[in-house]
Amino acid sequence: EARRHGAGSIRAFSSATLQTTRDRSSLSIEVSEALENGDIIPWFQPQVSTDTGTVSGMEALARWNHPEHGIIPPDEFIYMIEESGLIERLGEIILYHAFTALQAWDKAGIDVPTVAVNFSATELANPALVDKIRWELDRFELAPSRLTVEILENVISYSENDTITRNITALSQLGCGIDLDDFGTGHASISNIRRFAVKRIKIDRSYVTRCDIDREQQDMLAAILTMAERINLETLTEGVETVGEHAMLAQLGCGHVQGFSIAHPMAFDLTMEWMENHRQKMAQTPQIGRKAS
Ligand code: C2E
Ligand code: MG
Ligand code: MG
Ligand code: MG
Repeated sequence: EARRHGAGSIRAFSSATLQTTRDRSSLSIEVSEALENGDIIPWFQPQVSTDTGTVSGMEALARWNHPEHGIIPPDEFIYMIEESGLIERLGEIILYHAFTALQAWDKAGIDVPTVAVNFSATELANPALVDKIRWELDRFELAPSRLTVEILENVISYSENDTITRNITALSQLGCGIDLDDFGTGHASISNIRRFAVKRIKIDRSYVTRCDIDREQQDMLAAILTMAERINLETLTEGVETVGEHAMLAQLGCGHVQGFSIAHPMAFDLTMEWMENHRQKMAQTPQIGRKAS
């Protein structure tokens, strides 16, 4: 099962490789050591405004740089981290690296308005989450708006958990962005979206594929985008793989896009150069990414 996961990529890998060669407890120890050794860190994927083409945010996506297996994507190891009770630790590490990156971009004069971090249901159910985030923001001297919290649609669909509700509402009031991830794949109701103070929906990749040539996809996207506009939700579409899809989304009025057509997730060290190239590209061809009117 050979797959590519981003620039500088990556050989075939499946979690079966790890599982056949090691038992569960040694896997748990291995993942715990990897966390503490700094082998699990975020890569970053740009999000751009369809109006201006400029970078509106960077999403932090966990990667395990494994000594034998190379770069392992999160779907292959996050469940192990959950099972080992280490998801809080992963969250702290990703947040730390995300804020370190923001500080470095700020110092270099590169404008990255917000960094988006994925939070699991377990983390969101921790009563200490908001204090932890506030403490980290203070330590890095960052305004709350510099953090966007990504929450899976299904976390708010099924949650009867008061702590989750309180945490998300508190983060929204603090000024953090709240993005509803993989929107359209779960069961969030409009009333849940309201109750949780969601600010933006991240429309799932499944709605994007071939949207420039497939009329049904277009109609579905148009319906979602109209709904979002009417209830004052901002919109971002993820998994935009072609220039045609990007152009269609701009035409349909989607606010932001993210996907391989713009950039694959990349290691922090590659972000400065990518941003400089992107800035030059925007300056040279200002019509790229502009909304067709
Ligand atoms: P997600 O948050 O929905 O992230 C989008 C996924 O789609 C990422 O996969 C990204 O690399 C991939 N992607 C981006 N653009 C494209 C595209 O144009 N085409 C296609 N086919 N894929 C694209 P990735 O990095 O493997 O992450 C998978 C999931 O793992 C994420 O889905 C997120 O739910 C979870 N995850 C990642 N990092 C973390 C983390 O630090 N903490 C937690 N709790 N979950 C994380
Ligand atoms: Mg996400
Ligand atoms: Mg998503
Ligand atoms: Mg996803």
